[in-house]
Amino acid sequence: MKKKIIVQKYGGSSVKDADRIKAVAERVASYKNKNTDVAVVVSAMADTTDDLIELAGKIASNPTDREMDLLLATGEQISCALLAMAVRELGFPSVALTGFQVGVRTNKEHGKARVEQIDDKRLKQAFKEGKIVIMAGYQGITAEGEITTLGRGGSDLSAVALAKAIKADVCEIYTDVTGIYTTDPRMVPEARKLKEITFDEMLEMASLGAQVMQARSIEVAKRFNIPLHVRSSYSKEEGTMIVKSVKNIEEVAVTGITSNKNEAKITICAVPDQPGVSATLFNAIAKAGVNVDVIVQNVSQSRKTDISFTVPKADLVKGIKATEEVAKTLGAGEVLHSRDIARVSIVGSGMRSHQGIAARMFAALAAGKINIEMIATSEISISCIIALDKVDSAVKTLHKAFGLDKK
Ligand code: ASP
Ligand code: MG
Repeated sequence: MKKKIIVQKYGGSSVKDADRIKAVAERVASYKNKNTDVAVVVSAMADTTDDLIELAGKIASNPTDREMDLLLATGEQISCALLAMAVRELGFPSVALTGFQVGVRTNKEHGKARVEQIDDKRLKQAFKEGKIVIMAGYQGITAEGEITTLGRGGSDLSAVALAKAIKADVCEIYTDVTGIYTTDPRMVPEARKLKEITFDEMLEMASLGAQVMQARSIEVAKRFNIPLHVRSSYSKEEGTMIVKSVKNIEEVAVTGITSNKNEAKITICAVPDQPGVSATLFNAIAKAGVNVDVIVQNVSQSRKTDISFTVPKADLVKGIKATEEVAKTLGAGEVLHSRDIARVSIVGSGMRSHQGIAARMFAALAAGKINIEMIATSEISISCIIALDKVDSAVKTLHKAFGLDKK
């Protein structure tokens, strides 16, 4: 019989202290039997990464990307070494390896490097020796031998890339929640755990605010069709499978509701309505290093128009500055902004085959007296920008309106 290979990834909360590391070791060991090889990827313990960033901030106002990566990559090495020790304490042979020791090759983009390839030699050898492999997540190495990190939440990506490299049968993502829910259960107690969700839906939910998994890792899992199982390291309960397609996809239009409070809105008023204006504006904003999300441009009646767009709250100041400069050169009017906005989104692959979903969403928001400021759609999602103080009630309202409360 062909040997089964599983990759398990444990997030920072799952390895936050010695007791949790021992508990994870028990779980890891319980999977190891003659016919299964186990490779484990760990995140840094609890808030280690944040603490390291803060520490660096106390020392340098503008540390180099290279040294930042060198520093941040240490977090995962701690948890990785400790977990390997804990597994060995239980009598199971194990080996801890950094990303560099495994050979996680990345490009040179410090702080958000892309994985190009993973060498499977060292892992295969360890498996042959009957060892459980524990790999430090979130890190890699360039062809030049420089240490890189894969962006916040990057251990998910390490796990998925590893699963691909060693042709794992499944990649389990262990976290402190029991799976993917129809919406955030802290906001809506009636939220239900989903048995399955598609890569597309999960990707959409992750980029629209659901924080369970790093979006890029889902992209990679989708590309290589690596089934993911998101589950809790605190219980034996089955979690949520993220797969290519789910049965009964036609039945429900909306699978989940997400919200995001991290966006702000900028409006540039009275812009001349002529070719090249948007290009000039968004080029300047891109140059300032600001990501633009929803964009709305009004129809002009007087050859002048207003353009509104959202940016991450953290980039608002940069965004306003760039917009004000453009406003001057274009001879446009005032530049307005607001931090008090939020995005509420409905997501579902079933939207492809159901009509009238947008109308239902808007009607539900209207019934809840929630004003819609901007709308954005994709093939499987609809987002509305609304007032920040209305977002919790919007999520509850939509969760109910699309029948997600009930079984
Ligand atoms: N420790 C890194 C972070 O906090 C990577 C991860 O947790 O996946 O972003
Ligand atoms: Mg983390």
